[in-house]
Amino acid sequence: MGELELLSHHCQHLRLTRIAQRLPTLLEQAAQQELSYSAFLHTLLAEEVASRQEKHQALRVQMARFPFHKTLDAFDWKAQPSIDPKVIKELATMRFVANGANALLLGPPGVGKTHLSVALGLEACRLGLRVMFTTAAALITTLGKALYENRLEERLKLLTQPKLLIIDEIGYIPIDRQGANLFFQLVSRRYERGAILLTSNQSLGAWGDVFGDAVIASAILDRLLHHATTINIKGDSYRLREKRKAGLVRSSVTAHPEL
Ligand code: ADP
Ligand code: MG
Repeated sequence: MGELELLSHHCQHLRLTRIAQRLPTLLEQAAQQELSYSAFLHTLLAEEVASRQEKHQALRVQMARFPFHKTLDAFDWKAQPSIDPKVIKELATMRFVANGANALLLGPPGVGKTHLSVALGLEACRLGLRVMFTTAAALITTLGKALYENRLEERLKLLTQPKLLIIDEIGYIPIDRQGANLFFQLVSRRYERGAILLTSNQSLGAWGDVFGDAVIASAILDRLLHHATTINIKGDSYRLREKRKAGLVRSSVTAHPEL
């Protein structure tokens, strides 16, 4: 076996896949640039470390189950003056996650709540944190099923593992008493232990109606808000805005000022 072949063999044995791939090129470069032993070794290991980080990040993103992938860079801050970018940027440092605190994004449909929560989730993945994204409806269905199958404890444990749990769309679908109770249990479990990022189209004052019970709603809010950043987003739907813009192009004939 030639020396290069043998090296590649060792790399594969040690699962140094990126080094195995890049070795011939890196050896050539090292010879050309007359790298020192230590500089060469550093190049090799840095490649492998970068490759593993990429893989782990991709895996975390996959495991988080985001509905789509949109970033903070893709967010048009000018279109949304009711949000202070500094507040979102602070959240993006993930200090709130390290502290087991929460974040609430409130506002009408189409103002960017899901976009921002996904973008923050992706940022958390990039920083090496485990993230789980779910809608309130899916979460409550899952918890109800677990209760029915006598596996609630197991499911609650699973939902306590991610450092950041994103719960999208509280308020679109009314939650029944059992659902509210299960939601409360989850929030209690994660309280001061794991961060929750939550979006809602309803103001917090309307959560009594959302959860069908003012007492349980205030118990949930009490825990959520103890350490929390609340962001109230105002304005028109971005989706409709885009449509309106398109409409304006044709507006000389058919104006739709109401849209
Ligand atoms: P919400 O969850 O508040 O109903 P979304 O986050 O789903 O709204 O936003 C609706 C659509 O508009 C998405 O495609 C989102 O990417 C886009 N969008 C909303 N606000 C902005 C913005 N300020 N900049 C760029 N895209 C935006
Ligand atoms: Mg949404």
